[in-house]
Formats: sequence, C-alpha cells, structure tokens
Amino acid sequence: MTKQGTIRKVDWTIKPAMIRSTADEAIEKSKKILKVIASVPAGEENLETLQRFEEVLGAVGEALVPLVFLKYISGDKAQRDVADEVEKDTQKFENEIWGRKDLYEVFARLEPIMDSLEPEEKTLLDMTLKEFRHRGAALEDNKRKEFLEVANNISVLESEYGRVLNEITTTVPCTIDELDGVPPVVYENLEKDGDKYLLTLDYPVVIPVRECATNPETRKKIIIPFYQRGGKANSERLSDALALRERLAKLLGHSNFAEYSIIRKMAKTPKRVIGFMNDLKTKLTPLMEKEMVLLKELKAKEHNIPVDDVSIELWDLFYYHEMLMREKFAVDQNEVKEYFPADTVIDGVLDVYQKVLDIDFEESSTPSGWHEDVREFKVTDKTNGKLLGVFFLDLFPREGKFKHYAVFDFLSRRVRDEEELLPICAMVSNYQKPTESQPSLFNHSEVETFFHEFGHLMHVISSQTKYARFSLGGVLPDFIETPSMMFQNWAWKEEVLSNISGHYKDSKKKLPSDLIKRLIAAKLVDIGAFTLRQVCFSLVDMLFHTEGTEDTTSAFNKMLSDFTQIRIPDETRMDAGFGHLMGGYEAGYYSYLWSQVYAEDIFTKFEKNGFMDTKTGTEYRKKILSPGGSRDPDEMVQSFLGREMNSDAFMKSLGLGKD
Ligand SMILES: [Zn+2]
Repeated sequence: MTKQGTIRKVDWTIKPAMIRSTADEAIEKSKKILKVIASVPAGEENLETLQRFEEVLGAVGEALVPLVFLKYISGDKAQRDVADEVEKDTQKFENEIWGRKDLYEVFARLEPIMDSLEPEEKTLLDMTLKEFRHRGAALEDNKRKEFLEVANNISVLESEYGRVLNEITTTVPCTIDELDGVPPVVYENLEKDGDKYLLTLDYPVVIPVRECATNPETRKKIIIPFYQRGGKANSERLSDALALRERLAKLLGHSNFAEYSIIRKMAKTPKRVIGFMNDLKTKLTPLMEKEMVLLKELKAKEHNIPVDDVSIELWDLFYYHEMLMREKFAVDQNEVKEYFPADTVIDGVLDVYQKVLDIDFEESSTPSGWHEDVREFKVTDKTNGKLLGVFFLDLFPREGKFKHYAVFDFLSRRVRDEEELLPICAMVSNYQKPTESQPSLFNHSEVETFFHEFGHLMHVISSQTKYARFSLGGVLPDFIETPSMMFQNWAWKEEVLSNISGHYKDSKKKLPSDLIKRLIAAKLVDIGAFTLRQVCFSLVDMLFHTEGTEDTTSAFNKMLSDFTQIRIPDETRMDAGFGHLMGGYEAGYYSYLWSQVYAEDIFTKFEKNGFMDTKTGTEYRKKILSPGGSRDPDEMVQSFLGREMNSDAFMKSLGLGKD
C-alpha cells in the first residue's frame, strides 16, 4: 500500500487564552532556532541550513495561520479578538525575520552554490535572498530599522482595516412596499424593527436588492451605505498606509511603491500595467457607451420620460442590466436560480473537477470544521490512490464572518523529515442561506464564482512542492488568479450547466436547454461596463501607488465616474471598503485582468482537446497547479500550451476578438 501523507488536525474550540499562549510559544520556539541558524559560522552554512530555516517558517506558519484564520470565520467574538491580535503579531514576526541582517548574511554566503542545486532548492535559495532584500535585510542599519518599523505599522493598519469590514453590523430598515421586486427569501428571515425589515450589508442581501428592487430609492438606500463601509477611519488608514508604503519603496531606492512591488511580479513594471489597462480602456469605452444607450432606453421606458433626460445612477446599473437580460434575452436570474440549489450545484461542480483533474472527493460524515454548516472533504489522486489533502466548504454568512468569497490556505503542504504533511484549505463564501421554504439557490454568476473559488482550492490541494513557501501564498500575485479564472469557463458550457442543475422542487428537471442557450448567448451583455470597472479599480490602485493622491476618497470617486460615466455621490467612500488594497492586492488589483489573459489562453487547449478531457486536465494539474510558486508562470504556461502565450483568446472573451 502507498504510504499516505499526514492530515493535521486543528482544534477550532481552542479557548482565547490558549490561542494567545500557543501563538507566543510558537514564536518563541522559532526565535530560538533562528538564533542558532543566524550564528552558523562562515563556511559552515549549506543547503541544510537553508532547509532548516524554511522548516522554521513552515512550522511557525502551521501553528499560527489556523489561529489567524479564526479571525475570519469564528462565531465567537472573544476568539476573533485574540485571533486579530495574533494576526498582527504574526505579521510583525514575519517582518522581523525578513528584516534580519544576520540571517540574510548566512544565506547570502550560499549564493555561489546556487547553480549547483536541484531546481526546487535553487528556486528556494533564490527566493529567500530576494525576499530578504525586498524586505530590507540588506540595508544599512539605520535604514533597515526604519524599514522594519514602517512595515510593522503598515501591517497594523491593514489588519485593522480588514477587521472593521468583517465586523460591520449596519442595517437598513425597509418596509415590504419598499422591497417590491425583491424575492421574499432575501429578507423574510431578517430581523425586524416594527414593520421594517433590517437589511444587512451582506452580499446575499445587497446584490438582489441592487438587481431587483423596483423602487430606485430602495436601491439607493442600500447602495450608499454599502459604499460607505469602513467609513472615514478606513479612508484614513488607507491614506496612512499609502504614505508608509511609499516610504518603504524609497528606502529600497524605488521611486514609488508600485515599482517596488511589481518588479517581483510577472508584469515587472507599473508602466506595463498602466499601458495594458489604458489599451483596454480605449477599446472598451466605445462598447460601454453603446451599452449605456440601451440601459438608458430601458430606464426612460420604465419611468415614461424622454431618453435625453435619463441618467444611469450608481444604483441603476445592475438593475437595468438584469432588466435587459430579461427583456432582450429572456433570461431571468430568479428563474435560473430555481434550477441551481446549492447541493446540486456543489455535487455537479465537484463531479466536473473530479473528472477533469482525475481526482476523488470523499465527504466526511463527521466533519471537523468550526461551524455546523461547514462540510469537509478528503481528496485522493485517482491514478495511485494517494491522499492529496483536505478542503472545507463554509458557504453562508454569519455575524462576524469574512464578507467576501475567498480561499484560505491555512495548512500548506510541506515535507518534514520525509513525512508528507498534506495541505488543508477552506472556501469561505457568502451565498444565500437556506430557509424553511427554500434551499440555498445560486444564480448563474454565483455558479461561476463557485467554479472560480473551487479552482483556488484545487490549486492548494494539487500542490506537490516540498516547501510551504511554494504553496498558494508563494504563487506570484499576478498569476494567482489564473488557475481559478480558467475554470470559470466550465460555467459557460451547455453540457455542464445542464449536468449541475436540477429544479429545487423537482431535481430531475434540468435547466431547460433553450434557457441555457439564451444565457450563454447573453454572456457579453454589458461586458464593456463591467470590465471597465475592473480597469478603473486597477488604475485607481496604480494611481494610489505611483503618484499618490491627497484625498483617496475623492480621487477614487472621480476616476470611477470618469470611467463609467456614472455620477458617484460625494458621500460614498469606495476607498474605505476596498479590502483588496489593504489585504494583499495593493499595487496588484490589475492581477485579475492580467491573470485572465493567461486563463483564457490556457483554456484554448481544453477547447481543442475537449473540456472534460482527463488527459488534458491531468497535464494541467501537473504542469500548472502542482508546482505552485516553485516555477516561473510563463515557463509553466509555455510548457502546457507548447507555444508562447498570446492575448487572442482574452480579447475574444471581451467581445474584442478579430472574428
Ligand atoms: Zn480568486
């Protein structure tokens, strides 16, 4: 029998005091080993020294990251509070390690043997040295100390910014009349104040109100507070972080933070990113202008006013988009949803992944998650029966839980003394909760999101690297979205949509073929407007991290208004709720569109060989997913495609193709 890897267990019921002491002990233990490593005499350092250092990082990550994860999913505020402290301490500790000159010097002495190492170890040494230099360890002492202080201050600001967004409890009271058009399942289980439903700012509430409420005042009533999340305090945290990031970059001799950050990514320079985005802006603006004419016509017709008097407001875009989908393409998301109950979609998507990647999922009947809703699955490789890892699905909103959709890679794969420690990760999302009368139902874009997030899970699970450094967190940030975006394409295949559907009242009734055809035909409706928003967010991020701005709120509002030609009310604060800029995508929001270029190109091979083709899927797993961050993305893509990548498929996916 094949020797199986180890599945590590996490105690989610850990008491707050224990969280604190476990974290402190892990940090102290690491410090002791680091001290020994730092004092290795010149000439005695070797590959093992590097591996020992990497094992310290892996071990401390194994102890701390699951504790930090509690901040995002625990239902217990006391746990979340301590986890928040531990998150700050973890970041501070990491900043300290990478800012240490004594450690850096040990590994710098290994540089001459770099070329003699095996590929994975060579990359490990190269990345280790780059990380030290990138995080200030090679600076002269006074600058190095300043770098560390600035980095620590940034970590605190980022952590607080995110925490405020997770903890939002703002509600918007609405009467049943005001909610005309909104499916009752959205609000009927919410708390009430007299005759008013207290609408939360969670996605399963905000999105359907934005799309369906016939009264524009209702839409406005929820959209404005939604775009005020985080408030003035978060705008200030962002401003402070921008100033500190600029200081970091300057300490390392860069002219701005974007240059400092992007030099280590695929794009290499802000100029390339800005050029890519401006080119998209030029190509998409005429498309968006045509789309807006159609939406204005719908609004004029609905309110019986001349089209010249109509303007599309911030709370109108999604509402008229849905109206257009219904009127022109006969696609009503509320009808589509009835065919996508969560359990059916999940089973179906899991089947697709099992077939394409040649793996098996087995659900645990006694899940060891952190909440009763959480499901747990083991993954094995079909070809050899080897366990690959474990994933959890945590799908529905709860108070204090992370508000978006993301995958958390809380136990990375690594090999310790020849023992294979398997990766464990979780999809944390916020779908509509089931009610007594109805199961949780997904609309089509939620199905697509499920494919996307599941792609991240499989990226973690497929890892075959020896070092935790090359897990999801080690993948270049402008490539990290590629594998999951690639899988969104399955959500646009008729056969797949039929297979993963089943009416919630009669599971044998699949999504009707003519409805699927209309849905697919409408794929590019308003693509100009929606993609331009992404382009705008990417350029806002670039502006903030290159020239900077005095006032992030008004700069954001102004740019969004210029790009979308929609007035953005002064009282909104997009900058205060834009977690990406304070949570790992700073000077990196462009990664979504950048990754999409690669994702669409990779998918051409599946189009050619058949999108359910196991052979192509296995090759994809081996060449793109398994190496994680241990290989250069351009090399991996070239090896998978057998040619240089190009942007033809991407342009086609935006309706800008040549044919
Ligand atoms: Zn993603």
